[in-house]
Amino acid sequence: MIDSDTSIGTVRKQVLADFPMLQEIRKRRPLYVKGLIDMVRDVAEYNKRYVYPVALELDRRMEKDHEYEAWDLVEAGCPNRFLSLIIPKLVGGVGGLAVMFSLVMEEMCSACPGVANIFGAHALGVVPLLVGGAVGHWETVLREITESEMMGKPVIMALAITEPSAGTDAEEPHYLKEARLSMNARRVEGGFVLNGRKCFISNGSIAKYIWVTSATDREHPAESWTGFLVDKNMDGFSVARVEEKMGQRVCPAAELAFEDCFVPDENVISFEGDGMQPGTLLTLAASRAPVGAIATGIARGAYEWFLRWAEQRRNGRRPMDEQRVQMALADMRTRIQLARWAYMNASLAFDNSIGKVMNGILLKSMQLIPSFVRTSWPYLKLFNSHLGKQVVNTLVNVYTSDEQVTRAMAFASLAKAVGGDTAMYVSSLALEHMGSEPSEEKLWVEKAFRDAKLTQIYEGTNQLNRLTLYMSDIGKDLTLELHKILEPDYAGRGVV
Ligand SMILES: Cc1cc2nc3c(=O)[nH]c(=O)nc-3n(C[C@H](O)[C@H](O)[C@H](O)COP(=O)(O)OP(=O)(O)OC[C@H]3O[C@@H](n4cnc5c(N)ncnc54)[C@H](O)[C@@H]3O)c2cc1C
Repeated sequence: MIDSDTSIGTVRKQVLADFPMLQEIRKRRPLYVKGLIDMVRDVAEYNKRYVYPVALELDRRMEKDHEYEAWDLVEAGCPNRFLSLIIPKLVGGVGGLAVMFSLVMEEMCSACPGVANIFGAHALGVVPLLVGGAVGHWETVLREITESEMMGKPVIMALAITEPSAGTDAEEPHYLKEARLSMNARRVEGGFVLNGRKCFISNGSIAKYIWVTSATDREHPAESWTGFLVDKNMDGFSVARVEEKMGQRVCPAAELAFEDCFVPDENVISFEGDGMQPGTLLTLAASRAPVGAIATGIARGAYEWFLRWAEQRRNGRRPMDEQRVQMALADMRTRIQLARWAYMNASLAFDNSIGKVMNGILLKSMQLIPSFVRTSWPYLKLFNSHLGKQVVNTLVNVYTSDEQVTRAMAFASLAKAVGGDTAMYVSSLALEHMGSEPSEEKLWVEKAFRDAKLTQIYEGTNQLNRLTLYMSDIGKDLTLELHKILEPDYAGRGVV
């Protein structure tokens, strides 16, 4: 909270108390856990210095002026490297994985999820370049992000899956077959021409680079679903409008228009036809645990403001001395802790599957290649070519298996649904107990209540996440098919 102690000793004690599993990991990997704690402390400081003083006012402002862009807050995060957290060290990033990112999201969201979601949606845009093994773009796009951040000039990414009449359907391979799609990618010489709309895209109006999905063959959307890297300066791309939001207002959500937008072959991420299986599934498997953490942070923020309210005397009595309030606090604490363990468990599962590639010896050894070679034209050409992508994907398959990543995907869906429901439950319970008397604490809890709802909707609704958990873990009819990228079974494949 705004007046809490953010010294390293206090933060360390708190993190290790909340996550007993980190105490065990610390015995074997002390520097790794120290890095996590240092990052949480940086976020707590950032919240205290920049976010708490403005969050309520900014939220009110953006209710009326929803196109306002809070660049000052993004710039203030540059020294802490919030935009480079999950970018590999190879290209100047922090090299954090899901565990670090989730811890950062919980801490940020306990203050303001709108601000946090700018960093969260940015990371979501980065993920397909990582899990899609787009090593050529690491040296250009990801390096631009890390270097610009060091100069205090943020470069932001976004991810665009949702279409005006395809939300849930565009996030799951079985449903995609029946989806009513508006986007279309038509093959032309040297690339594809994109037409159609994407909607509700977080950061859509402020991002420089966007990962955009589209079918290349409308008759076979699931098989031809493809991920494209779009630069906002490409001809034919525009921001159609910015939405008015109920919660998480500081992060803009935009509708994007594509009118004969040409995207060159080298901007196809992974291969044509891999955009859903494994592309979208793997990306969401990576991002849903951090969304569980976003929701946990919102619940924690509501709980902390409620606790502060409950401790204050009103008409000579403290609400905290009443049994109903004590029970509510215990209930909130229980749910928050369960949501926390769920996201940490899912993050660890992810880091121990596909995450192993990011920190693997092969990637580390690439640092031995001189920087001028890694940014040279032949190197980029190789890694953007079919052969280069095949090599990277073969390595990914050596490090992990379909079974491991499918389990990580199931845990991620579990954590996302538990987190979203916890955020709604805790913020509602707090509001119910606070009654009608106005207070500063109540304003924060009201904001948390509005911010919470989105965590049940984006990154796949909680209904979809429950179905994903069922299909991948219980019904066993959904496997994350990493190996599939090595089997060119789509007709259009192999040309990029
Ligand atoms: C503020 C905001 C920010 C967002 N940011 C992004 C972003 O950055 N990038 C992006 O690509 N998208 C983003 N989204 C879109 C979000 O992911 C979708 O809203 C979500 O996937 C749901 O899709 P939909 O709104 O079309 O609802 P629908 O898919 O139409 O669903 C409506 C309801 O029906 C239920 N439902 C649908 N199909 C089934 C089924 N088969 N079985 C059971 N229930 C079902 C859903 O769970 C939901 O309750 C954002 C949305 C919002 C509101």
